[in-house]
Amino acid sequence: MLKRGSGILNIAMQQLVRYPHFWAILRVAVLSVILLCSTGAYASNVVVGVFAYQGERAAISDWSPVIAHLNTALPEYRFRAEHFFDAEGMRKAIAEGRVDLVITNPGYYVTMEAEFGISRIATLVSSHIGTAKQAIGSVVIARADSDLRDLSGLAGKSVAAVAPDAFGGYLIAARELLRLGVVPDKDLAETRFVGLPMAKVIDAVKRGEVDAGIIRTCLLEQMAEQGSPDVAALRVLSPRKVEGFPCALSTALYPDWPIAVTRQTDPAIAKAVARALLEMPETKDGPSWTVPADYQPVHDLYRELHAGPYAYLRDITPQGLALRFWPWLLGLTLLLVAWVVHTIRVEYLVQRRTTELHDSLRARQAAETKMRESQEQMEHLSRLSVLGELSGSLAHEINQPLTTIGTYARTVLRLQSNGALTPDAVTEACTEIADEAERAGGIVQRIRHFSRKRAAARDKVDLAAIAEEARRLIVGMMAWTPDVHIDDRTQGSALVLADGPQIQQVLLNLIKNAIDASRDLAPERQHIQVVIEPADKRMLVRVIDSGGGLDDDQFAHLFEPFFTTKPDGLGLGLPICKTIIEAHGGRLWAERNSGGAGMCFSFSLPSHEHSS
Ligand code: ADP
Repeated sequence: MLKRGSGILNIAMQQLVRYPHFWAILRVAVLSVILLCSTGAYASNVVVGVFAYQGERAAISDWSPVIAHLNTALPEYRFRAEHFFDAEGMRKAIAEGRVDLVITNPGYYVTMEAEFGISRIATLVSSHIGTAKQAIGSVVIARADSDLRDLSGLAGKSVAAVAPDAFGGYLIAARELLRLGVVPDKDLAETRFVGLPMAKVIDAVKRGEVDAGIIRTCLLEQMAEQGSPDVAALRVLSPRKVEGFPCALSTALYPDWPIAVTRQTDPAIAKAVARALLEMPETKDGPSWTVPADYQPVHDLYRELHAGPYAYLRDITPQGLALRFWPWLLGLTLLLVAWVVHTIRVEYLVQRRTTELHDSLRARQAAETKMRESQEQMEHLSRLSVLGELSGSLAHEINQPLTTIGTYARTVLRLQSNGALTPDAVTEACTEIADEAERAGGIVQRIRHFSRKRAAARDKVDLAAIAEEARRLIVGMMAWTPDVHIDDRTQGSALVLADGPQIQQVLLNLIKNAIDASRDLAPERQHIQVVIEPADKRMLVRVIDSGGGLDDDQFAHLFEPFFTTKPDGLGLGLPICKTIIEAHGGRLWAERNSGGAGMCFSFSLPSHEHSS
């Protein structure tokens, strides 16, 4: 088999070599292979994703001139179109990086620009329109025999459209309706989305299935050109005229389709394609390209309709916001709850502390009341004790006027029985009796007044008068007293705001202690002086004696309760005096007389004008 095959090949080779054009054909074949290798076979592939909304055939016919131009202008690349029949397919291809260039309508472009960052490098100039800026709009049609004439009349009517995301086939007209106050979702009786091809919308209108239909601009004209007889049976609602725009129109116009590059596209390809497209010659029927148009009006449309990249604006309802911002809301709620709990806790603590404070205040008030009561009791006891100490001499004092009264009475009786009673003798006896009775009554009156149990008070009192009263009381009660001299150096205004009887008690105590301390001295050396004088804003009272005084140890314990050097003493007089004076905002202290024997007990009280 092999031998026979080799023989046939040899014969064929000999025939070919003998053939005159063999070498020329071989040369051409080799050159072609080299050329193919350097261009097509080794050229990098560039995939152009094309939105084929009218089907594959229409897309090929529309875009093959562009693909062919690119392949010719940029032989180092091999451009190939890939058709997508909906936005979803195109979106997936971009996401997976399967396309380098994208040709799509302005609506999808703006959506994918926001979603994938595709960016336009040129905008189409359709041959029949001639401008890129104002190229696409919507036409709203109704049957010529219907009453509808403009877009505002569509409220409550049924409308057919291509799809909710169709740009010319729905969105442009929807924005126009919205601007006229007709909210498509709410105010139209029905929006029927019939899908592509767009001719289905026209059919639905013609058949009377819907009151009106939305189609892109220039479709009617294309159909009329292709000889469709029924176009005349349709009416364009709210027709507009835009200079230079050759088709019927119901809305504003938007820029034409862009060609865009994706984020993955090699910048060198983007640059080369842009340049090649701008240089693409204008032909009578074919498309051409210009610099990228401004697609802001398309953004505005989506924003107004809360669609495409602005669909999130639809969610700005309480529920939508809650769904979007739930972590923030949760945080805020937690903060609020924490704040409420904190406030309640603080309120509770404040209330508890206030109650505690009230309780302790009440307890303090009760303790103070009890202390005041026991102090009053003590003062009373102290007064009674002074009286007890004086009671011996007191009995003697009262006995004296009584004896005198008795003597005078008996004298009168004796004179009467002798018949020697003269009117003068009766007058003298009665006068003496009355005087003595008055003296005894005065003593009793002062004792009763002094020993009476009473609550503390604050009155404007004269210290000199109080000292004089104390002197009279003590002199009246004792059998013998040394000279007690009141030296008022205030010029008659020794006024203080005080409890008079309490101050009197203090003076009585101090004078009596001074008398006790002087007891061992010869009567002519016993001398007690009570000096009252103003000192700064105070009144100063000094009780000075020339008695035995105290040694250092005794002096140190002077104001301690129950300290006494007297056999019948209680040792409460000075502590009580100190308490009384301090309760009046004053001070009580003792000093040894500098010049010689004896003590000086002083107390100061705020003068009347400076008492608080
Ligand atoms: P009592 O008079 O019952 O002893 P006081 O508290 O009045 O209680 O006095 C306490 C002591 O202070 C007295 O026992 C006395 O020793 C001493 N004392 C008070 N006043 C004088 C004074 N003027 N001179 C010397 N000693 C005094």
